[in-house]
Amino acid sequence: MFQQSTEYPCTWYAASYPSKLPERAPLSGQKTADIAIVGGGFSGLHCALRLALAGKKVLLLEASRVAFAASGRNGGQALLGWSCDMAPLAKSLGVERTRILWESMRWAAKEIRELPARHGFEVDYQPGSLWSAVMPRRVRLLQEAQEEMAEQYGYDLLRLIDKQQLPDWIGSERYQAALYDPEGGHLNPLKLAQGLASAIEAAGGRIYEQSRVISICREGDGWRLSLADGGVKSDLLILACNAYIDQLDNSVSARMLPVGNYQVATAPLDESLARSLLPQNSCVIDNQFVPDYFRLTADNRLLFGGGCTYFGGLPDDIAAATRPYLERAFPQLKGVAIEYGWGGHLDCTLRRTPDIGESGGKYWMQGFSGHGVLPTLAAARAVTEAILGDRGLLDIYQAIGNPRFPGGTLLRAPIEAAGKAWYRLRDLF
Ligand SMILES: Cc1cc2nc3c(=O)[nH]c(=O)nc-3n(C[C@H](O)[C@H](O)[C@H](O)COP(=O)(O)OP(=O)(O)OC[C@H]3O[C@@H](n4cnc5c(N)ncnc54)[C@H](O)[C@@H]3O)c2cc1C
Repeated sequence: MFQQSTEYPCTWYAASYPSKLPERAPLSGQKTADIAIVGGGFSGLHCALRLALAGKKVLLLEASRVAFAASGRNGGQALLGWSCDMAPLAKSLGVERTRILWESMRWAAKEIRELPARHGFEVDYQPGSLWSAVMPRRVRLLQEAQEEMAEQYGYDLLRLIDKQQLPDWIGSERYQAALYDPEGGHLNPLKLAQGLASAIEAAGGRIYEQSRVISICREGDGWRLSLADGGVKSDLLILACNAYIDQLDNSVSARMLPVGNYQVATAPLDESLARSLLPQNSCVIDNQFVPDYFRLTADNRLLFGGGCTYFGGLPDDIAAATRPYLERAFPQLKGVAIEYGWGGHLDCTLRRTPDIGESGGKYWMQGFSGHGVLPTLAAARAVTEAILGDRGLLDIYQAIGNPRFPGGTLLRAPIEAAGKAWYRLRDLF
């Protein structure tokens, strides 16, 4: 699964980045650090910034470029909550502890609105997210979620938009209702990642690109990381490798299955056409098992995604694979020019629950299962607070107790794909 490149994939984010994307030198020779972080996506970057600001000697190693993988390729939807929704968390943790995680999610949503300005960068943030139902029978799930969030978690800001009101929010007959969350929103993820990287360096943290960690092992009280041209000795280690962890740590990767996901960006749309699709400029995701998700960009493109693959690859022609779904949602865009199509990999756990924990000075963060813009920040807070002396949030995450995938590395993808085929069928009827 592991992929490495000196170049960013051809996403709209990389192509439209307002300046030349910074290149950082590879690691060479032997280095030391308080904390070594493997992976330069949101998980690793948020940890690095928080620890550097706390005065720790932080060193981050990225195999390709900062946000080369999911963090630089996602839909940019900053949605509150986790991929699994609340029920599996409450089942594992009870409502009291789930409420504490939920409060940390609200903290992450607030932090993402405030952090860029604090460090002097821009992420094109737009407030407002919609969780929508395509099937009439799934409108009930929205109503239940609204009640559950208000009654169990004290979150009464969700607003149910019914079919009559929906044209003011989504210019499509396909949708039956939606839950509006004013604390959700959307942003440019590559700008966020690059802004975080600059802030880390300004705070004294070190970031090395083209620096794949080949192996990790215990050495004395700390950790030794081996790379092709050097190594790192650190007191603590954070693994933030997402779907590309492979054999670097089999105990961690056994609980995660890489799943492909892809999206497209249309050509810029006429301003009035763009506004007619999403009059409030909210981002949208539906509640199908394999959801479509979409939003407008700052230059009036429609970003539209949703397809999944389970065997590592992605469709050869992502635009052709996505167009039928885009035109199903918005028939008025039939034949629209699609200028970019790209994909990436999600780190799915069996129950789609986050997998965050620590053992022997090694911390890991994974299992965002396709929903990680805010959850990575909430998880980074848990990990960094634990490193700085408060294990409260981390202990709650670790109590979730994610199982290994059945079937080992060879059979987990076919087993998962077969299971998901059943759920996809249920999306049709
Ligand atoms: C197509 C797509 C759309 C998505 N849309 C959304 C969305 O709209 N909203 C949302 O909330 N979430 C979305 N997600 C999920 C979200 O992007 C991820 O959950 C999140 O970015 C994960 O961040 P991360 O830092 O954990 O992993 P990544 O961003 O994948 O970063 C992991 C990094 O680790 C590096 N690495 C791995 N192994 C090594 C090694 N051995 N040595 C050095 N470096 C290594 C990789 O090169 C990579 O850069 C989407 C994901 C995809 C793929």
